[in-house]
Amino acid sequence: APTIVWFRDDLRLADNPALHTAVELGAPILCLFVLDDSDELRPLGGASRWWLHHSLEALGDDIRGLGGTLLLRSGSAATIVPELAHSIGAGAVLWNRRYGAAEREIDAGIKSELKDAGLDARSFAANLLAEPWEIVTGQGQPYSVFTPFWKASLQRHAANPPRHPLPAPTTLTAMSDPPAGDELGSWELLPTKPDWAAGLREQWTPGEAGADERLAEFLDGGVTGYAEDRDFPAQPSTSGLSPHLRFGEISSPQIWHTARDGRRHLGDDGATFLKELGWRDFAYHCLFAFPDLATRNWRQAFDRFPWPDVDQDAFDAWTAGKTGIPLVDAGMRELWATGTMHNRIRMVTASFLTKNLLIHWKLGEDWFWDTLVDADPASNPFNWQWVAGSGFDASPYFRIFNPERQRERFDADDAYIKQWVPEFGTPDYPEPIVDLGETRQAALAAYEQVKGA
Ligand code: FAD
Repeated sequence: APTIVWFRDDLRLADNPALHTAVELGAPILCLFVLDDSDELRPLGGASRWWLHHSLEALGDDIRGLGGTLLLRSGSAATIVPELAHSIGAGAVLWNRRYGAAEREIDAGIKSELKDAGLDARSFAANLLAEPWEIVTGQGQPYSVFTPFWKASLQRHAANPPRHPLPAPTTLTAMSDPPAGDELGSWELLPTKPDWAAGLREQWTPGEAGADERLAEFLDGGVTGYAEDRDFPAQPSTSGLSPHLRFGEISSPQIWHTARDGRRHLGDDGATFLKELGWRDFAYHCLFAFPDLATRNWRQAFDRFPWPDVDQDAFDAWTAGKTGIPLVDAGMRELWATGTMHNRIRMVTASFLTKNLLIHWKLGEDWFWDTLVDADPASNPFNWQWVAGSGFDASPYFRIFNPERQRERFDADDAYIKQWVPEFGTPDYPEPIVDLGETRQAALAAYEQVKGA
């Protein structure tokens, strides 16, 4: 009886516990990906759809290279997976875990249905350094502050290191005569009119090989100076691994072990880099503890925040990078052109939207969700709430980023601004749409209502 390996946020062959186990079982394998359009799931944004198309193309090629097949289906996974298992007489269905509430519910339903029918249905830990429930306080509760979370994580990893990466299979015994699936092109994941993806194509190579190459390049050079340089947007000194991690083309344990490989002496730079992976784990820890992370304030007091009616013109100026605040505009244009934005500038643009424009973090989170290639169900809402002040371990509300001060500190020669805003410094560049000082005072006044709650 064949084994189905159901791929989801783990589009890789190496360090893939579900695939690895399927190979060990020895039965013929059918690889499956479902484009799930269930109402309970948040639809992917445009940039993520672009990435997914190319990532599936790469995965399909890699699987074919081993002699296997990747079957594509669209619809509701809750229906498709059990039906497929029955129709091909599968003996086992294996997958790697995901952590959103709706996703977990779908997976649990499928698992119990398959088990009731006598199949071997199993899920595996694959994409985090530790499962979200494995790091808990002395009282057995989830952490809500990063520093103690990371301290506890490091203690755990010292005693019980993240899983050693599993090798990619060298060959796959494919199921003979697999059922027919969809053509990838029929899913229309790529933009057509207009084709806004030119800058994405230039910058990114979705797929496992592209991910491995990024990591190797980063560890060979980029990581040197990372602890200091990672805050300067004009120097591309960060890894660029986030979209590869988002789609599971590489795993956190792979990065962890490669970076800690004894032959490298990464020192502070390596520790700082691994700590960033810790933030990613923490975002998943928080999503698991608070499944409404993308839709509700974690700190309930923020439900009382007096958001004014949305100023649509101001929101449009923000999305288009035409606010007249150069660092904000550079970031928003980088995002539109490339599908990414430097971390420091994400903080600056998010602070400007929520505090200077007093526009709800959810609108900003939605825009990022649509435009980021690394748009992540945990990291995106987690960081938006962190900047807004409503989330886990958020910075104190009164620490409002001043984009001009940030510019002096992190882009002193305006190199990043000039890269993205060519008309900067000319009469064509707009005046600021708001006064930074006045809007800061208005934000602090609005915050009084939260404090009083
Ligand atoms: P590196 O500096 O090389 O870091 C290595 C890895 O650590 C990253 O790839 C990422 O997986 C992880 N990481 C780093 N910083 C964070 C962080 N603050 N939170 C969680 N993980 C982190 N990151 C996403 O992956 N997806 C998102 O949707 C996302 N949305 C964000 C929204 C806002 C408003 C802000 C302020 C940050 C957001 N981030 C998000 C976090 C961070 O900006 C990106 O992870 C980082 O810029 C990716 O670049 P890199 O891979 O070169 O990072």
